[in-house]
Amino acid sequence: MNVRDSEHIIAELENKEDYALTDKADEADLILINTCSVREKPVSKLFSEIGVFNKHKKDGAKIGVCGCSASHLGEDIFKRAPEVNFVLGARNVSKITQAVNEDRYISVDIDYDESSYAFSEFRNNTYKAFVNISIGCDKKCTYCIVPHTRGDEISIPAELIVDEARRAAKRGAKEIFLLGQNVNNYGRRFSDASHQKMDFSDLLEMVSQIDEVERIRFTSPHPLHMDDKFLEVFAKNPKVCKSMHMPLQSGSTHILEQMKRGYSKEWFLNRALKLREMVPSASISTDIIVGFPGESDDDFEDTLDVMKKVRFEQIFSFKYSSRPLTKAASFKNQVPPEVSSARLQRLQELQEKILDEISKEKLDKEYEVYFEEKRGNGLLAGKSDNNTLVQVEGFDEWLGTIKRVRITNPKRLSMYGEVIL
Ligand code: SAH
Ligand code: SF4
Repeated sequence: MNVRDSEHIIAELENKEDYALTDKADEADLILINTCSVREKPVSKLFSEIGVFNKHKKDGAKIGVCGCSASHLGEDIFKRAPEVNFVLGARNVSKITQAVNEDRYISVDIDYDESSYAFSEFRNNTYKAFVNISIGCDKKCTYCIVPHTRGDEISIPAELIVDEARRAAKRGAKEIFLLGQNVNNYGRRFSDASHQKMDFSDLLEMVSQIDEVERIRFTSPHPLHMDDKFLEVFAKNPKVCKSMHMPLQSGSTHILEQMKRGYSKEWFLNRALKLREMVPSASISTDIIVGFPGESDDDFEDTLDVMKKVRFEQIFSFKYSSRPLTKAASFKNQVPPEVSSARLQRLQELQEKILDEISKEKLDKEYEVYFEEKRGNGLLAGKSDNNTLVQVEGFDEWLGTIKRVRITNPKRLSMYGEVIL
């Protein structure tokens, strides 16, 4: 989501203000730091980065702080780092052209007007286009700061989404990547009540009708909203890539209740195993938090149990980080950091073992790979339909094309192979 926000910021500055990108900070007239605030670490990193940029920037260059940390720290950023010229929240991206022209500009109040989400075009990658379908989040999981920084959940009207996807596809993006905090809760509320309620499955069908679109991905769906209709559209629509992100967070029903996730261990397993049954080739990725307040050894064992039963192809795992403005920050029974670290290590060791087994099974398998980039090692890299990273020797003309690849050397995080068609 931040990558897409950065693209919007760049688009506005290039088209309305005559800026151009540079990767040399000491030559820049404007330095923008687009921040996350989901965990504490990025926040402390922010202030050290500001210090480094301030030391090396050219005279008169401005520094702007954007994104979620800007949203929740607001004026405090000026107090802690007076060298910052403006602060622009995650929901205020459209104000960037004002921000660069005023001194000490700050805009962090949540803007619910959907017209503030129509931007000029800029994309980092011509082959794949991120498209926002909703902003904000209504869920209020007790550990999460996102609803405070990105506000309530508002869906973007389907016509705007389809238009944006069509324009990107005409420019060469065969893959459309739909973005939202709860994509499969799409269509419940729009900023203008005249828009018809609809659901995410219908939106998937609409985007798949664009001829030039060959692949559709999305993130994040919420396990609670994975009803049968959604799983069926996922399984049956040939343009919908067969990789699903299912953020588990914890395998313990008790901890899931404390987190206010809205589903149980049994519901999660039911949905994941149903998905495996409907689409045996599908890959499933997940997010897991260890050391949430009150997590006992037994709760943690439940998480490992779900991992063993689902055998995720990819896991993003984190130690719980207490965040301001969240309910869980005031929970009494915080888990000692050394316990969380030990659990994280056990979880990651189990996942490595599972991944070693999964990757061995991929030897000699064939995948349709969409080549998106040339890597530093000279190999072309792309993703299979089910999100396996594949690298091959090949020609630059293959970038932006889909080819059939046989895996010759499977590794844990990337497969190496050869093009056979
Ligand atoms: N909307 C998505 C998640 C967005 S935040 C969802 O519901 O899954 C991305 C991930 O960061 C989360 O899935 C969670 O695993 C992690 N995360 C969020 N808050 C956290 C916290 N306080 N401590 C540690 N990890 C956190
Ligand atoms: Fe955060 Fe929960 Fe919303 Fe995801 S669903 S953004 S974890 S509050």
